[in-house]
Parts: sequence; structure tokens; C-alpha cells
Amino acid sequence: MARINDNYLKLQAGYLFPEIGRRVREFAENNPKADIIKLGIGDVVLPLAESVVEAFKRGVEDMAKEDSFKGYGPEQGYDFLRNAVVENDFAGLGIDADEVFISDGSKCDSGNIQEIFSIDSKVAISDPAYPVYVDTNVMAGRTGAANDSGTYEGIVYMPLNDTNNFSPELPKESVDLIYLCSPNNPTGMTMSRSELKTWVDYAKQNNSIILFDSAYERFITEKDVPKSIYEIEGAKDCAIEFRSFSKTAGFTGVRCAYTVVPKQLMGQSSSGEKISIHSLWNRRHCTKFNGASYPVQKAAAAIYSEKGKAQVDERVSYYMENAKVIREALSEKGFSVFGGVNAPYVWLKTPEPDSWGFFDSLLNSCHVVGTPGAGFGPSGEGYFRLSAFGTKENISTAIERIRNGLPS
Ligand code: PLP
Repeated sequence: MARINDNYLKLQAGYLFPEIGRRVREFAENNPKADIIKLGIGDVVLPLAESVVEAFKRGVEDMAKEDSFKGYGPEQGYDFLRNAVVENDFAGLGIDADEVFISDGSKCDSGNIQEIFSIDSKVAISDPAYPVYVDTNVMAGRTGAANDSGTYEGIVYMPLNDTNNFSPELPKESVDLIYLCSPNNPTGMTMSRSELKTWVDYAKQNNSIILFDSAYERFITEKDVPKSIYEIEGAKDCAIEFRSFSKTAGFTGVRCAYTVVPKQLMGQSSSGEKISIHSLWNRRHCTKFNGASYPVQKAAAAIYSEKGKAQVDERVSYYMENAKVIREALSEKGFSVFGGVNAPYVWLKTPEPDSWGFFDSLLNSCHVVGTPGAGFGPSGEGYFRLSAFGTKENISTAIERIRNGLPS
């Protein structure tokens, strides 16, 4: 019989969102009349911007004509999109278009990146975190079993909580790979320029590589918050950055993202030779991926047009207005509230330490679904995430119900 990858058996029961789905389904079956408002999974609700749709359609029409039809495209993405990314998202930061790898999602990229690194790599991950970082390292076999507190042996967890202002502290030991996410999912908090500089300095001193996830950079409203790790001097020597069109431009169902791997970024082979990380990622990408579809890349490029930018900004502001409403209402109700200023997530401290318990009471008393902090890692326990990705109407109904129906 074929042997399986036993590392998969170490994964703890269920991925967070299927468990939420299970509890919500069960509640809905028992309460068929309940109007459930879902502010749990971070999925967008507004339709694509008009200029994106136009470009998407034009891309499909190109495919319908003999002279503009496209077969396989470049695995790394079309130049028109790679150039637009560099000119708009990294203007003045010295990133070249061939350092940008277009893909069909940041989940895949942030999950796949670990496979170009040694299985012995010491990995540091903020806790709580987007679950993909931990689970993909578990699947690869970089960890031992999970212990009772829900952490895996072998991973260096960097707790995020209100005492460190949700900013990860440098590990005491030397680590090889460091996952940072700013604006952060789930906490909605960001890292400052000086905090990021500390990390870049640490990475350079320890020959570590920072895996910087800035899927939510478009939601930053405060002026001095860095949007890219490459705003920090020296980062091109020690960091990879992930970005996604999913939340920025409503592409969760369209699928397009990109990863920046600077050509000067180096790793080391077991024989001590310096190896270009860019060339490894390029090799992996070309071997396992055949490029994002042409119409999708056309649609993504449209967000960099003047009209596209304005239309995307409108959508981002809509969600950030929701975030403000959630933040203010929860603060008024007496909750300690974090995030929601530079990210579409509000992170609140739950009255009881059991965040799944808070999930159940919110669902039962207000028919509102959020995400228990414990689902993002043990240090998420005692916190709860509410997503601002809802319609204004749903957000205001949910808030009204929380105001009236939930004991603070
Ligand atoms: N990174 C973070 C921090 C996310 O929260 C998400 C999606 O929720 C992603 C990456 C994945 O984005 P994509 O839709 O591009 O796969």
C-alpha cells in the first residue's frame, strides 16, 4: 500500500474555517429562521471595479481572435503586469520587473515558499498568524508533533499581545526563516518603520530570510506605516515579499497575486556555497506553475490605471469605514479593541478567556459570526477577530445586535 506523508497526521483537527463552517451550519439547522451575519472569514463582498471588469472582458475577447489569442504565457507573468507592479507598488524602491513573480494567489505562494529552504531550517512565526505559515511547515516535516497547548515542537513562536503592542519580539535564538505579516491578519495591527528596521538588522546579522506578507498594504491609512519591507534599507538582502490582489481589488474569486524575490537575496547550500534564492524560486515556479491566466492578468493590470486606482480606493475606503464603525461600537461597549485603522480586521479582547466560547455566545445571542483568536494560534486565545468585509447594512445590523444583545 502507498505510504502517505505522515507529517499530515500531525496537523491539528480541521483548518480553522471548516470548523467555523461546521458550527454555523449546525446553528442554522437548529435555528432555521435566524438571519446570520458572517464577519468571520475575510472575504470581500463588493463586486469588481468597473475598469477591472472592462479589462477582464477585453482579455477574454483577445482570446477569441486569432491574431491576439494567447496560449501558455510566461510562467512568471506577463511583462505588462510585472512592469505595472514595479512602477506603482515599488516606485523608487529599486525593484526590477523580473524580481516580481505573478501567481494565482498569495496563499499558494506563502505556503509554497518554504519548500526551497532546507528541511532543517529553524522557522519563527508570529502567534497568532495566518494559519498557512505554520501548517505548510508542518506538512513539510519541519516540526514535531503538536503539544497540548497547540504549538508544534520545532517552531519558534513569537507571541503578539497587548503587552508588546502586537509586534513580534526578536527570538532569543538564531532562526533561518521569519514570517512577518503587516498589516497583520488576524490582529489588524501594523509594524512601524523602526520595528521593521530591527528585524532587517537581525536578519542580516543572523543570515536569516524574512518572509514578509503584505497582502493588506492597500488598507494602510496612517502616513508613516511602511507598505513594503523594501522601504527599509538592506531589506533586499534579506526579504521576500508577498502581495495579493484578493482583498485590495476584490480578486478572491478571480485569483491573482505576486511575490517579490530580489536577485541579490542569497541562501546557502549544504556544501556552504551561496545560492540565489531568486533562481531557486524561478525554478520552482516554472516547474510547478504554468502562469496566471491572461485575462486575469489583464484585469489585475487595470487596477493601476487612473480610473482603476480611484475605483479600488473607493472599495478600500468602504471597508475601512466599516472597520471604523465596528471599532467605535465595540469600544463604546467597553471592549478593548485593536486594529481596524490600517487593516480591515478588528481584534478585540474577549470578556472570557475562551475565544471559542465567545464565538458561540456571539452566534447564539446576536447571530453574528466572527473568528476565535485561538484558531490563529495559542496566543490568539482571549481575542476575537471581526472582519470589516461586509456590506454597510450587514455591519450596522451586526453592530446593533452586539450593542443590544451581547453582555460586555
Ligand atoms: N496572506 C494573508 C495574510 C491573508 O490573510 C490571505 C487571505 O486571507 C492571503 C495571504 C491569501 O491571499 P490569496 O487570496 O491571494 O491567496
